[in-house]
Amino acid sequence: RANPAAERLLAFQLEKVCGKPIRQVVAAPALATVIEHITQRGNGTQRHTEEISIVIGDKPLWFKATVGDVVDNTTEHLGIITVLRDITQEKAAQARSAEFVSAVSHEIKTPLASVKAYAEMLADGDADGDPETQQKFLNIIEVQTDRMTRLLDGMLDMARIESGVVRVDKKIVSLNELIEGGAKLMQPAAADKNISIESRLSSLYLGVNVDSDMMSRVVMNLISNAIKYTDAGGRITVRSQLIDDRVAFEVEDTGRGIPVDAMPKLFQKFYRVKENANVAPGTGLGLSLVKHIVEEVHGGKIEVESQVGKGSIFRVKLPLERMN
Ligand code: ADP
Repeated sequence: RANPAAERLLAFQLEKVCGKPIRQVVAAPALATVIEHITQRGNGTQRHTEEISIVIGDKPLWFKATVGDVVDNTTEHLGIITVLRDITQEKAAQARSAEFVSAVSHEIKTPLASVKAYAEMLADGDADGDPETQQKFLNIIEVQTDRMTRLLDGMLDMARIESGVVRVDKKIVSLNELIEGGAKLMQPAAADKNISIESRLSSLYLGVNVDSDMMSRVVMNLISNAIKYTDAGGRITVRSQLIDDRVAFEVEDTGRGIPVDAMPKLFQKFYRVKENANVAPGTGLGLSLVKHIVEEVHGGKIEVESQVGKGSIFRVKLPLERMN
């Protein structure tokens, strides 16, 4: 016997396979093995649970398979029942979390090793009587400690937003005002590098239903990146426009640009473009958070266009909220 869900999942038709050994029915050796195992030992009290992987189509899915004997009240053995619960999503989450822990450890290891090495050299007296070298060692320790602090702050921020601890408070606001606000706050950092920020905002009122704090962070983060990865004297242009039933804003810079092979990884946590890593300090967490805020929290879309040596455009598209 099998229910229709089992037939669909394991791709068999009950009427055609009735009476055949299980291994000929399901193209899932792991499942057949669990069932056979119980069948052979079956004495009316068995129950076994195992996580198994079954390839369906060309996708491996994970199931929690519970296989147990079916007995009546005289303990006569009637057969075996197998219940499959799809745990693919849980497995993927486990894998992501393990990957994350491993990435975090990797990121923290380098600055920590450097702090330890320079602290040891100072303790061993390697720079005794040489204040300049002492200062250099202390500077390295400070820079590396700052880097770890940035990483931890970034991760805490991300964890709070991604786990939903930070309450999302959406309201209809003017996109232009949001962009202007963000650009204004980033003005001093741009001025420090003699970079101009030009506004080319739509003359229309573009309403968006967003959490203003979060969306301001997106604006500021994109402008901050544009400043970081653009050489002194460059130009940043912020634009907004209406495209069909969506609004878009973009931050364009005349900076370093992003190599084509880096594009698919750009929004991954901790990913930093090798060629640009020495241009400015960073954690590789900013764009991952930006994408999360735009796409998961607000149902928008983020896109990038870039040319090495010429500059980049980061474009955010959001649903338009019409005024009633
Ligand atoms: P980071 O903290 O390293 O700036 P992000 O996640 O914000 O991390 O960005 C990831 C990487 O993408 C950066 O390290 C940088 O190499 C590249 N990048 C981001 N924005 C730009 C830009 N406007 N121009 C060139 N490269 C950029």
